[in-house]
Amino acid sequence: MTIRTRFAPSPTGYLHIGGARTTLYNWLFARRHKGTFVLRIEDTDEVRSTEDSVTAILDSIRWLGLDWDEGPVDLAADRGPYAPYYQMKRLELYQKHVRGLADAGKAYPCYCTREELDAMRKEAVAAKRPAVYDERCRRLTDRQKAEHEAAGRRPSWRFHMPETGETVVDDMIRGRVAFDNALLPDLVIQKAAGGPTYNFACVVDDHCMEISHVIRGDEHLSNTPSQARIYEALGWTPPKFAHLSMILGPDGSKLSKRHGATSVLEYKALGFLPEAMRNYLGLLGWSTTDSRQLFFGTELVEAFDLAGCQKNPAIFDQTKLTWMNGEHLRKLSRQDLLEHAEPFLKNAGLTGPLDPPLDRTVALEGEKCKLLADIPGRVEIFYKDVVFTPKALDGVLKKPGVKEILLDVAGLLEGAEPYAEKVLEERIRAYCEAKALKTGQVFHPLRAALSGRTEGPTLFGMIEVLGRSKSVGRLKAAAALL
Ligand code: GLU
Repeated sequence: MTIRTRFAPSPTGYLHIGGARTTLYNWLFARRHKGTFVLRIEDTDEVRSTEDSVTAILDSIRWLGLDWDEGPVDLAADRGPYAPYYQMKRLELYQKHVRGLADAGKAYPCYCTREELDAMRKEAVAAKRPAVYDERCRRLTDRQKAEHEAAGRRPSWRFHMPETGETVVDDMIRGRVAFDNALLPDLVIQKAAGGPTYNFACVVDDHCMEISHVIRGDEHLSNTPSQARIYEALGWTPPKFAHLSMILGPDGSKLSKRHGATSVLEYKALGFLPEAMRNYLGLLGWSTTDSRQLFFGTELVEAFDLAGCQKNPAIFDQTKLTWMNGEHLRKLSRQDLLEHAEPFLKNAGLTGPLDPPLDRTVALEGEKCKLLADIPGRVEIFYKDVVFTPKALDGVLKKPGVKEILLDVAGLLEGAEPYAEKVLEERIRAYCEAKALKTGQVFHPLRAALSGRTEGPTLFGMIEVLGRSKSVGRLKAAAALL
């Protein structure tokens, strides 16, 4: 079987965590089985769809590193054998199939106005009946239709749903789910203005684009029986369905803004790596039998399968994501780390060439960070004038004997050859011994004098990277304050 999956976002906002996870699973499944991953823009909601959303969604998916084989290239262009991949450019196709259903007696025009539909809903609620369309336009005579037309009403088109029995959806994750047909309304498939509704366009496109697996969030499970009936009416075999578990916040309610950042691009701005996001989202509703947590490179693609997807809701835990990001940061090569950190450094006013070079300071400090956004704050000590924290100045430097230590070590550094971490460490340790000082009595003031802080990079690494003249200068400047 040729595997073809798709992500089909409605461009009515940014790409959020749930959408990103859906994209990832479709991509993983396609890549795992050497299939094709399609991106389709479901822009049939003319009021809420925006070009900015399309751009934000494409940017987010690109940032996540989930390349698609067919779909939009940008706002104007598509690529792939089933183009266009923007639904608003496919209206004729949907209209053709609505006409086909109407000719077969499976769809009918509905002339009800919004006010009439509202009144119908209120009446049903008052009478404790399900608030679904009462199918009144199913029975219109040709004469009544002509009267409506003459009165200037434009019909929408509704799909004739069976009234009795049940519709069974065989879901790859949820198993067998049965829906009572009496509760499935005759849904609108074509709006009065001529555009399709989601449920109809989705069926037509999934069929015409030869999608083999529909993998999507479980909020769409309730749409599936209607879609299954539409496939049947059109004489088409439905794809396989897999509905992913819901994503909850740590408090057990549906994940939302209240739980923090929800858009993928916000995570980018916060300093998360795309590979860490993929790793984390991969585990948000899927697991291996041995509950493996970390996946690098192509390991996720190799391990993923729908069989590991779970029914139970997944809990989004930003602390775990942050931990995972640190693990991925530490796996990066020096060059990749610098490239990822560059926008954050630039934002903080740190752009090269600098002394010491950024690649050295970032390599020294990067591995202690969990987020890219933490890096500038850690490397800035190499570039900015020393500002002493109260703890460094009052708690460390102002102790008796410190001034002399700083001047002695400054002298040592001036003569150290080569000026390299190992040699520096040997010299300073020998100095402690000669003066019968505990290492802490020397190391703490050195750190405070060189960086203004009481914590930071490894001491001797910092002294080497800072360079001879800056290190000596800082030690002497701190001594002069005492
Ligand atoms: N356009 C729908 C959405 O954004 C897609 C649903 C589906 O995957 O069928 O929710």
